[in-house]
Amino acid sequence: MSLAERKMQFLYALRSKGVTDKRVLTAMETIDRGPFVRGVFANRAYEDMPLPIACGQTISQPSIVGLMTQALNVQPRNKVLEIGTGSGYQAAILSQLARRVYTVDRHRRLVREAEDIFAQMGIGNIITFTADGSRGLEDHAPFDRILLTAAAEDAPGPLLAQLRVGGIMVLPVGQSDTVQTLIKVTRSETGFDYEELRGVRFVPLLEGLGDEE
Ligand code: SAH
Repeated sequence: MSLAERKMQFLYALRSKGVTDKRVLTAMETIDRGPFVRGVFANRAYEDMPLPIACGQTISQPSIVGLMTQALNVQPRNKVLEIGTGSGYQAAILSQLARRVYTVDRHRRLVREAEDIFAQMGIGNIITFTADGSRGLEDHAPFDRILLTAAAEDAPGPLLAQLRVGGIMVLPVGQSDTVQTLIKVTRSETGFDYEELRGVRFVPLLEGLGDEE
């Protein structure tokens, strides 16, 4: 199959799995997943599969990236926080939809590699941080949207506190590696509304910085 055909099939897979928001589809058509997948799995970048990346982490399945982005309902003037930069793919998608994206990973190596790809792609509205993202980024709060791409047992308190009133947070929660639920939290004047979206499987949200290899 030619590259063009593989990219067509990639977009078809997204639509057939429920990614229907036009802005999200356009962003995923614009941002090539290829550069975010390195090494032996590079030739599988256009399959709707999670794939291994450095530091024992994974780049999420494209249809899940699409569904999470869609649930986040990002608006053009939004300031978005992503916890779990990983390959940088999700942040790059968000960069097409938001005014500015703050992305945090506990592995410095992943952050550096993602920065290189953002620069190559000419993306200028992503700000990267190597830190424990479960504490959020207090200096840059509040955020209109917050997305976690690693699973916590519950929505971390500091992140709830850094969500603007009217804001949306999407995250996988669960007590084990195998059973997790994607939830959408909306902050109102008086509190937080929770909605369960679907079952998912993500790597765990861990405390502190990652070991450097
Ligand atoms: N969004 C990524 C996939 C992320 S995989 C992509 O598009 O490729 C989950 C990531 O969360 C991993 O890179 C892991 O290092 C990171 N992570 C786990 N716990 C974290 C924490 N407390 N703070 C920041 N990043 C964390």
